[in-house]
Amino acid sequence: LAAAGPSSVTGPVTTTDGHRIAVVANIADAKDAARAAGVGAEGVGLLRTELTFLSASSEPTPEEQRAGYAATMAPLAGKPITLRTLDAGADKPVPFLAMTPEVNPALGVRGQRLFDDGAERADVLDRQLVAAVGGAADAGVTLKVMAPMISTADEAARFVARARKAGVEQVGVMIEVPAAVLNAPELLAEVDFVSVGTNDLTQYVFAADRQSGPLAGFNDPWQPAVLRLLDQLCRAAEVTGTPVGVCGEAAADPALAVVLVGLGVTSLSAAASALPAVAARVSSVDLATAQQAARVAVASRDVASARAAVRDVLG
Ligand code: PEP
Ligand code: MG
Repeated sequence: LAAAGPSSVTGPVTTTDGHRIAVVANIADAKDAARAAGVGAEGVGLLRTELTFLSASSEPTPEEQRAGYAATMAPLAGKPITLRTLDAGADKPVPFLAMTPEVNPALGVRGQRLFDDGAERADVLDRQLVAAVGGAADAGVTLKVMAPMISTADEAARFVARARKAGVEQVGVMIEVPAAVLNAPELLAEVDFVSVGTNDLTQYVFAADRQSGPLAGFNDPWQPAVLRLLDQLCRAAEVTGTPVGVCGEAAADPALAVVLVGLGVTSLSAAASALPAVAARVSSVDLATAQQAARVAVASRDVASARAAVRDVLG
């Protein structure tokens, strides 16, 4: 039998030398939220909203959306929740949008591209933003909102303007397209925070479909190519003073979570079940050790050597 790990996140998480890291949950519905509350998550780093829309054959009314978000958020009253606006397309079909079939949907009009200024369905986003603000007020949570699939500073700026108009105070974007990292100096200046979706970022870095079995080896967040991009993003974020979170699979792996902290990430968001072990691992190292782990991982040749080098540092 494996030794039982920690069962909850106990108190605010810091490295042994007091560097504060938010350990927060990925959720999609009220059940996930209850689980997150149950393990002591400090809040939510990614509320995926596709579920709210998945079974609907027409767009839920603003009232239905508001009630849905309030119900999802209620178990986490008093906590900060980062809601991601609708990320439709490719691996996340949303029937009511009746999207035009594309040859390469992962490279198509998906995520925020569907709702950018002037797009045919731009109004869907505006209604969602207003419903999110209302639902968060009803549930008594602090709302942050972020958009998926952003690649340029202009896209980010347009989203931020729309979200602020709807009454959102903290507005960010996801970093999941390599161009967003290359554009980081300008893009970060437009937003209050960013959150890296390592699942899509890895898919797009390797041009390897995240759902492809034969290509699963590329879709590994330990890939040094992905960690080098994260490093570049975090260096740009130091200049602008922008908080960087990670809400993809990378944040669920305790050793990799330490690497992320060493790179400069200050918020780790993963499924509730992963959080106690992540919190325990991060709490067991000092920042200098995490930075050393980050250095050796970024300098590694491949996944296996990155894992081995970090294991050597962390013991
Ligand atoms: C990601 O891409 O890493 C992410 C967190 O978003 P999703 O998995 O919902 O695409
Ligand atoms: Mg994604």
